[in-house]
Amino acid sequence: ARKFFVGGNFKMNGTKESIKSIVKGLNEAQLDSNVEVVIAPPALFLQLASSELKKDNVAVSAQNVYDKPNGAYTGEISVAQLKDSDIHWTILGHSERRTLLGETDEVVASKTKFAIDGGVSVIWCCGESLEEREGGNTISVIERQLAALAAKVSGDDWKKIVIAYEPIWAIGTGKVATVQQAQEVHEAIRKWLRANVSEAVADETRILYGGSVNGKNCKDLAKEKDIDGFLVGGASLKPEFIDIVNSNL
Ligand code: 13P
Repeated sequence: ARKFFVGGNFKMNGTKESIKSIVKGLNEAQLDSNVEVVIAPPALFLQLASSELKKDNVAVSAQNVYDKPNGAYTGEISVAQLKDSDIHWTILGHSERRTLLGETDEVVASKTKFAIDGGVSVIWCCGESLEEREGGNTISVIERQLAALAAKVSGDDWKKIVIAYEPIWAIGTGKVATVQQAQEVHEAIRKWLRANVSEAVADETRILYGGSVNGKNCKDLAKEKDIDGFLVGGASLKPEFIDIVNSNL
């Protein structure tokens, strides 16, 4: 069985004080022990969050990492630096980085491989725009993104990948995908993995849903057989994040 996974992507939000208070909330909460929780504060606060955390089943993640070992890459952070700071996760390929910062499928795949080779696990994001959905291209867009990933990673690399399906039209819009829309894409992702990678990878890889998840809509989504957790944006900054972690209770 796949362990339920809930990620909190803080994006470019927070202060030292607010990050401390979110972590305090997590430290004091009753969290479902069957859930793996990962919070992703801005890079500046990774070490703060990690030093304040007192829970074994909560880890800290970066929101991005670069695919070069070190050197003249102003503004970037390396995998080795994450490891050196005891950070073992990163989000990669978030749609905000793909659209605002021009990260291509290939760049995201290359970063993913680089992170895994350096011992950092990856929450790898994919998802279609509204235009792509309305044009009937949702599955082909996701398959294109998956194919770029599968061209770079192989074998045990997949054990270090969690897939997050985040339809762009549902991110930060309050417009959550219906349970059927989400399940349909998750099933298609699993089917693609079965056909193009392996049975084991299809069965074992967690596929998260992201896009306007909140304390209310999480329960129904969590019941779907191919939805193995969530990647939460806005609501991860609020106390209702605990309710999302505890979706299955
Ligand atoms: P919201 O939950 O704010 O819609 O953001 C989702 C997201 O982008 C998580 O990575």
